[in-house]
Amino acid sequence: MKVIETKDIIETVSEMCIRANHYLSDDMKLALNNSVNSEKSELGKKILNQLQENLDIADKEQIPICQDTGMAVFFVELGQEVHIEGGLLSDAINEGVRKGYTEGYLRKSVVGDPIERVNTKDNTPAIIHYDIVAGDGLKITLAPKGFGSENMSRVFMLKPADGIEGVKEAILTAVKDAGPNACPPMVVGVGIGGTFEKSALMAKQALTREFSARPTISWVKDLEDEMLEKINKLGIGPGGLGGTTTALAVNINTFATHIAGLPVAINICCHVNRHITRTL
Ligand code: SF4
Repeated sequence: MKVIETKDIIETVSEMCIRANHYLSDDMKLALNNSVNSEKSELGKKILNQLQENLDIADKEQIPICQDTGMAVFFVELGQEVHIEGGLLSDAINEGVRKGYTEGYLRKSVVGDPIERVNTKDNTPAIIHYDIVAGDGLKITLAPKGFGSENMSRVFMLKPADGIEGVKEAILTAVKDAGPNACPPMVVGVGIGGTFEKSALMAKQALTREFSARPTISWVKDLEDEMLEKINKLGIGPGGLGGTTTALAVNINTFATHIAGLPVAINICCHVNRHITRTL
């Protein structure tokens, strides 16, 4: 049994919040970099160069890469052999968010009630998804999610007869409807199967996947490639101003589902697809 103190979790989460909002992950940076060479439109190239310049300025001046520093979404893998000491794990994660967003001068974007809409002033509560796994590790992934792109996300409860063509149409519809509002070039997270909520969760988690990690199921890999090609032919382009770089990646997760259904969720993320992982 490994003991992990909540004070260490608070410090780790606080550092993750600041780091994720100041620096894009290496895979996203590389994909953005490569897209400048492949983009066909001159205006598109110019926008992509401006996005790179924005990253450099954020780095030099230690400011966030986007003014919308997002709602803090966590995927936590908790080993069965871990004992958390010093309080509740969820409280520690929320305290880390409070500390990171306050000390890092990150915008506080959370309202405590969806109708009364009073800002909680510390970006809590976080959205935390737990997975109990084997071993004695605690793996925490944070994805601060901006709502320009979150608002463009969709769940389609397709019929089994809609099949893979229905899935393709759902993905393209969501991206077309998102257009410039999702701050492209975007990353498209897709969840196929499960239930209503499972598909949405898979789509969200798909956004945190490293670009180099490809699916092992061959039809899923083919679908990712086909969708990326088709999305980039839509002409939305960087900043929504036209071009061939509408998406940098399409990441798809799948799960078993019911004989009567085919849920498909599309969670869209913008060009600041922030994600960071730490293991304690
Ligand atoms: S969608 Fe992304 S890039 Fe656009 S404002 Fe929100 S966080 Fe920033």
